Amino acid sequence: MNIPMSWSRTVAVRRLAAIGLALVALVAPTAGVAAHGPDPTLSGFFGPNQDLRYRWRSGSEPTSAIKSAIQAGAADANASRGSRAATFTYDSGGANPIGYGSGASCGVNGLACFTRNAPSGFTMWFREQGHVFDWGTLKWCQSYTTAPNGCYDARTIALDEFGHVEGLGHHVNYADNSDYNDAVVQTYSRTKPQSGYNIHSFQRCDVATLQLEYDMVNTSARYSTCLHLSTVLNLAASTSTVTPGAVVTLSAALKVGGSSAYDQLVGNPVSGRTVTLQRRTLGSTSWTTVGTMSAGPSAGTYVTSQAPTVAMEYRAVFSTPSGDGLVGDTSPTVVVSVGFVCLAGPASDAVAVPCV
Ligand SMILES: [Zn+2]
Repeated sequence: MNIPMSWSRTVAVRRLAAIGLALVALVAPTAGVAAHGPDPTLSGFFGPNQDLRYRWRSGSEPTSAIKSAIQAGAADANASRGSRAATFTYDSGGANPIGYGSGASCGVNGLACFTRNAPSGFTMWFREQGHVFDWGTLKWCQSYTTAPNGCYDARTIALDEFGHVEGLGHHVNYADNSDYNDAVVQTYSRTKPQSGYNIHSFQRCDVATLQLEYDMVNTSARYSTCLHLSTVLNLAASTSTVTPGAVVTLSAALKVGGSSAYDQLVGNPVSGRTVTLQRRTLGSTSWTTVGTMSAGPSAGTYVTSQAPTVAMEYRAVFSTPSGDGLVGDTSPTVVVSVGFVCLAGPASDAVAVPCV
């Protein structure tokens, strides 16, 4: 549902109280959700990349301008979901009707509304251009050649509704709404020319919840910066003892932490990041950076070869990156000893083993 924010605060509070029951039922925020966190969730989700087809509701088809806006909103949802969330595609035989007009079953203040029954399907309605609310008359920006101030962008409202269908509740904003543009799924819709009235992509706190509930597209994809996921970095050496100058391979593995709050993201391997190898001689207190580790043979792994001539301690470092919702970590230390090697068995099939 979208509720206009063009009335006074006093009136808004009264209206909210009147529709409070319906709003709570729709939003059902997770207990303890803090302001500026990922959007709250509704209950139930679709399958990964589930293909949801929609059609125009017979007898209640939108005008061509609103159809275009809704289809653009669907494309916006698909392009900006940043996850394996469901996709929306127009199909005249689609199972999920989208209607427009006086038949809309929205709450008294709703510009648009939805029903959902994941993973089966959904419905959606948009109020008609000129619909009279007791706060004023609805203007869809798309209904004008030159959109007037005070109009609602139907494409943005559609994106809010598609976000709900995915399972997103309304974002919980700071008291001063300074983070309003961190989410398009909002209780109060804005009108032209207010900031955020025409957002055409899911924003980071919408995407954060879509990632939590639908998982990432691949292991290299960046996490929403509305998330702050701890990571776990481990390091292993191919051998614990080498002869002087012989090669040892250091292998690091980076993954998302194991908090149950991370839902689908728990333990995800994390590829394509900058993981650095550091070393120090045994007994030294300061670390020297060797360099950036290379991509390893499997997702989330990083490798570097070393040829120590003296016993060495190694650790891997993943610094908290910018533009990525991951928190850095440093691996435990790995010791590689240097010793002479004895040959066991006849020379013809000798096996190198450390001297003891
Ligand atoms: Zn909404």
